[in-house]
Amino acid sequence: MSTTDRMNPSVLFGGDYFCATSGCELHVREGDSGVQGHGNWAVRADGSFASRSRYGEAMLCDVCGRQWLLRQRVS
Ligand SMILES: [Zn+2]
Repeated sequence: MSTTDRMNPSVLFGGDYFCATSGCELHVREGDSGVQGHGNWAVRADGSFASRSRYGEAMLCDVCGRQWLLRQRVS
């Protein structure tokens, strides 16, 4: 992804949930109320920035991604 794409405010999460974890603060899609951010970053209610990455089959925010990684070690 180029910097130009990332900075285009019309591109928001590509139609997917930002984070695939149901119940996560960032389990939001483009058009949902309160959504800020686009591409692979978003802004939480407390104003902190979140990034996301692919973990296994799902796109997860950084917090859920860390929990996912911990679960991989436990199992
Ligand atoms: Zn999450």
